[in-house]
Amino acid sequence: MEIQYVIINFLILALILFIFGRKTVRRIFGDRRVRIEQELNEAEAIENLPEEEETFEAFSAPEISDDCVNEAAAAVSEKIEQIEQFGERECREVHREMIADARIELFEEMKAQVAKIFSASPYYEKIRELDSVVLDNILTKIKITPGDMAYLKHKDILYVTITSAYPLSPELMDRIEKAATELVDTVGGKISLWFLEDSSLIGGFKLRIGDTVYDGTISEELYQFRKSLTRDPIENTDAAGELIKEFFDKAKNFNPHVHVYQLGRVMTVSDGICWMDGLADIMYGEVIEFECGERGMVLDIQQNRIGCVIFGEYEHIESGSRVRRVGRIASVPVGENLLGRVVDALGNPIDGEGYLPPSERRPIEFKAPAILERSPVSRPLHTGIKAIDALVPIGKGQRELIIGDRQTGKTAIAVDTIINQKGKNTVCIYVAIGQKETLVAEIRDRLKSHGALDYTTIIAVPASGSAALQYIAPFSGAAMAEYFMYAGRDVLIVYDDLSKHAVAYRELSLLLHRPSGREAYPGDIFYLHSRLLERAANLSAEAGGGSMTALPIIETQAGDISAYIPTNVISITDGQIFLDSELFNEGQRPAVNVGLSVSRVGGAAQRKLMKQVSGDLRTRLAQYRELKEFMQFGSDIDDATMKALSSGALLTEALKQGRYSPVDDSLQALLIFAVSEGFADSLSPADMAQFEERLYRYFKYERKELLEKLETGNKLDSKTKSELLAALKEFKAGL
Ligand code: ATP
Ligand code: MG
Repeated sequence: MEIQYVIINFLILALILFIFGRKTVRRIFGDRRVRIEQELNEAEAIENLPEEEETFEAFSAPEISDDCVNEAAAAVSEKIEQIEQFGERECREVHREMIADARIELFEEMKAQVAKIFSASPYYEKIRELDSVVLDNILTKIKITPGDMAYLKHKDILYVTITSAYPLSPELMDRIEKAATELVDTVGGKISLWFLEDSSLIGGFKLRIGDTVYDGTISEELYQFRKSLTRDPIENTDAAGELIKEFFDKAKNFNPHVHVYQLGRVMTVSDGICWMDGLADIMYGEVIEFECGERGMVLDIQQNRIGCVIFGEYEHIESGSRVRRVGRIASVPVGENLLGRVVDALGNPIDGEGYLPPSERRPIEFKAPAILERSPVSRPLHTGIKAIDALVPIGKGQRELIIGDRQTGKTAIAVDTIINQKGKNTVCIYVAIGQKETLVAEIRDRLKSHGALDYTTIIAVPASGSAALQYIAPFSGAAMAEYFMYAGRDVLIVYDDLSKHAVAYRELSLLLHRPSGREAYPGDIFYLHSRLLERAANLSAEAGGGSMTALPIIETQAGDISAYIPTNVISITDGQIFLDSELFNEGQRPAVNVGLSVSRVGGAAQRKLMKQVSGDLRTRLAQYRELKEFMQFGSDIDDATMKALSSGALLTEALKQGRYSPVDDSLQALLIFAVSEGFADSLSPADMAQFEERLYRYFKYERKELLEKLETGNKLDSKTKSELLAALKEFKAGL
């Protein structure tokens, strides 16, 4: 009975909770959802802040007489000749740079000409006639941005500035004042209106509300033109002639656009870090442009100042100078044409192989694939290194850390793995962070001579490069890799090395005055590396089926894998290949420490054949190492121990491998099988290399069919096994 009452009471309680609770929950979460959606929409609206507006054709453009054109052309004729001279020579990097410089000079001269044209009658009058049209256009665009709202909340007043090349008519000024007052009134604030004159604008005027500028001036039009100039390829040796034609077409058919952008002001600059104010609606990671043309990326947003890193030279950025939002998140060019090239962290070529045509771009920071878009690691990615493929196999989409002291062959493993991807339809990306330039050049040459450069992109920021570029290099690499992964291809990306990356990030963070944590690294360094490595994935078939395998490298100090950065990255990755400096010095190369190396997911991707033959390899090697250490204390050895020792020594020897000599995985399995089955027992370890070479040769040329069977088959069935044993016996007899 009691139980019935309890159940009934419980049901009644549940019903009451359901009826009343539902409403409350809906109220709380419904409100929140609406709010979140609203905020998202607002954020999206800001993101889509138009950099350039379309033309409006409400008036006829002023015509420029041929006299003016001729006069201007005469003024720049010297420059043209200079550029044309370059055209006769081969278009090498230096000449290309000279052409680019000459273009800029040419541009400056032309700008002066344009200023002259528009300062005299009849163009002066004509351009003034356009003012009201420009204003109409501006007034359709003006709005209060979320940044302005925030400013109004604190200060209750918004600054509105009109800067014109010449005095504006009183009616125009009235219209502007009325429109600006009305606009700010709608959100309950006041304006402070300023009229300025600036003859360097050449013609037209611009309106600034808060930090947003609505620019309808000729100088802005010229600025946009100049930007397109530096963007265009300079391969074409007729560039000069075309340029001049283009330029005068532009001046003749002058058709003012209204460009909308946001401005800020440099407060301080030091050590590659710049603090600014203004830029009300800026977002984290956005690109900004300084007056001198240098660019930077926003890394810190505080209430009254914005911190950014500068990509290039920062010596000529002055305090008080203008900064402008470029309107996009930091991104790099991606695509097929980057293969075979060495580029910097921003995707600019640095290998002297010439111009890289513009291609698709991807943001350097991108959301990692969600769980539903991933499928478990199931396909092997062969490194061609015996000790790794047999003991710590790597699967496509895995993140396997290569960790070890300095000079233990970490880079060698990564480079060999890239070389082994030849003909396997895998794209490779090698990110060199803070490495010596000579090393990068050597790696490039090696890859080239092994035919591996065609499918590889090298991203290099040398040790002398700025911390900002070192910091973004792995993210740029990930963006380039993602392009291929989302197109359904397999990619291998190497980050060499993340210790130096962590140091660069620490430098930036300390300069940005962020609080430092353990070993003076900033608290978010774990997040930094995890969001980088989480981008590696094996995509499900529905998501395109591509994969990104990441091989991050970490350098340890005196084998200490419990330091801050090593433990972080070990916990983010799916296993590690630990390289031991003692083994390396003993001559065991690659110096993989089998006991400390592990691959947590690669086992599922290992070929059955390899799994079968290397099943007990790990235990046998461990047993050998233990016995070997133990043997240092005693001298009496029984036969069984002796046997275990000598076969262990042979196995260890068999796992040695030189650089740039990847071995096919069927051959690897064959060797391990032969050694474990005792076919090398009579050899001394010194003869192992010869034994290996002969074995490969014998099977490649004399037992082709059997080797093919191993290559195509999966598991070693009893028939193949006996065939294999017979063949090995025959081989042994012929030794
Ligand atoms: P660093 O800490 O300077 O980055 P690293 O750990 O990346 O060093 P590598 O530059 O790859 O090490 O190799 C160090 C040296 O060891 C090089 O001279 C290289 O030629 C040699 N080496 C690496 N692997 C092998 C190998 N399997 N056989 C012979 N020599 C090797
Ligand atoms: Mg290295």
